[in-house]
Amino acid sequence: MAKTVKNIPVIRPNPPRLSEHVRELKDLEDSGIFSNFGPVNQRFEQELADTIFGTGQCLTVCNATIGLMVALRHVLGEDRPREKRYALMPSFTFAAVAHAALWNGLTPLFCDIDRQTWLPSAEHEEELLKKHQDEIAVVVPYATFGNNLDLRRYDELSERFGVPIVVDAAASLGALDAYGKGFGSGFRWPVVFSMHATKTFATGEGGVIYCADVDRVKTMRAMCSFGFEAPRVATLPGLNGKLSEVSALTALLQLNRFEAVVEHRRLLSEAYRHYLPGWDHQESRGKLQSFAFQSVLLEESLTPMRTEVVELLRARGIGVSTYFSPHLAKQPYFSKYGVGASLEITQNISERILTLPMFDTMTDRDVQDVASDLIDIVSQLEGKATTDDTCQVIEAKSSNPEYVEESLASNKS
Ligand SMILES: *Cc1c(COP(=O)(O)O)cnc(C)c1O
Repeated sequence: MAKTVKNIPVIRPNPPRLSEHVRELKDLEDSGIFSNFGPVNQRFEQELADTIFGTGQCLTVCNATIGLMVALRHVLGEDRPREKRYALMPSFTFAAVAHAALWNGLTPLFCDIDRQTWLPSAEHEEELLKKHQDEIAVVVPYATFGNNLDLRRYDELSERFGVPIVVDAAASLGALDAYGKGFGSGFRWPVVFSMHATKTFATGEGGVIYCADVDRVKTMRAMCSFGFEAPRVATLPGLNGKLSEVSALTALLQLNRFEAVVEHRRLLSEAYRHYLPGWDHQESRGKLQSFAFQSVLLEESLTPMRTEVVELLRARGIGVSTYFSPHLAKQPYFSKYGVGASLEITQNISERILTLPMFDTMTDRDVQDVASDLIDIVSQLEGKATTDDTCQVIEAKSSNPEYVEESLASNKS
């Protein structure tokens, strides 16, 4: 019996509609100011700092990747000893942060993640810091999928190893730390957020650098404006990282409704956990995780059939993806120019992960549909998997062109 094909995409971007805010747009145009940290950017930065962080300052940037490049360059300074060549980061993350390190002349050094929280492994970070203390120029932890990192631990690591920190908090706007403050609040190193259309804080392109240390914000602001500390006089390394006034208006409108967006997504995540009991979900830290989507892990026995699961779900009209697979150390460019240590848990989770739908207009009913189709498909495949030869056929069909493990091993410096 043919089932009806659903229409549940993995992400349905929903930034504020400027067409419904013509008056604000007209005001902006009348002001004659379209960029260069104009009044709309200033207002957004202030309101964000007040409502989410409560202390410190925010700096808007044109996107989080440029934000990471600038933050890294700032904390590295200009007279870095030559042997300080590594940026320590998890392999289980998005390409942007490794690119940002490479643009700064650094080599990504990949660490493993924690099996429960999928955050960078504290033990592995320590181990690599001890082993490469003189070679690690910066630590760049990722607050995985909007989860909370323990920033006091990074503060302490920074003191103990004399190493600066930049936090990739791309998906974390909306997350609340253990004290109920916006994730990053009070941290003295830069914390970089994205406002890309696919994030919880959806605009189009955009980002924010937060730092409790306002002098750092001031310096990074000048760096984002060609390194000018005085008009048209470069005193710092610079590029153009500014956010346009129209984009800042979109961000301001998103901030006005943001609490409701975050709460809706929290409920959807709760629903997923309810309808998929017994599945491996990411363990949340802090008071509130910000959910851009929902990830679950397939049973290890079904790992070879993940492509099949994805295809069958898509055939039923359910969007599904596999973030982050392949993880960075397995991507050709980073396997060539990065260095990987033991990444056992990363490899395991990246092989098993399924990224399930989440968006602002999604309903509890949609979650129920996704969950029941997923359970249905998995039990079908489990049935097939019990007969050996069928399983082999599926395995052969679903085996992805995986990148060779050796490429990393042979790249050890
Ligand atoms: C989205 C994302 C980025 C990049 O953000 P942009 O604003 O698109 O440049 C960086 N890191 C992670 C982990 C992300 O998810």
